[in-house]
Amino acid sequence: MSEDTIFGKIIRREIPADIVYEDELCLAFRDVHPQAPTHVLVIPKKPIPKLAEAESADKELLGHLLLTLKTVAEQLGLAENGYRVVINTGTDGGQTVFHLHLHLLGGRSLQWPPG
Ligand code: 5GP
Repeated sequence: MSEDTIFGKIIRREIPADIVYEDELCLAFRDVHPQAPTHVLVIPKKPIPKLAEAESADKELLGHLLLTLKTVAEQLGLAENGYRVVINTGTDGGQTVFHLHLHLLGGRSLQWPPG
């Protein structure tokens, strides 16, 4: 059993979030400190702490997260101009919440490379 995080509390509705999509496997909600006009986090309901701890049994779930992000991006009007998908993994990767999440960033032109 992985340690509970703030995202576990959001899944269980113990703290509020601006949820934009939900199904039986995942949840998408707006980041509380947006780094772009649209900044949404897509998370699995299964508490995988980070990408580095995902297993081959999670293959379908990981694909589902990416395809869900694509659908959410379309629904939020990002598909035409494009968007960025980020997975911060571990301390050097800049991860601060240890429940796997995909950042969906869009609504402005993004710089490369990131810092
Ligand atoms: P990380 O740095 O782990 O890749 O990303 C964690 C993200 O979660 C950050 O962008 C942060 O702003 C967001 N975040 C942290 N706590 C909360 C919260 O309580 N609600 C929401 N909606 N986002 C949060």
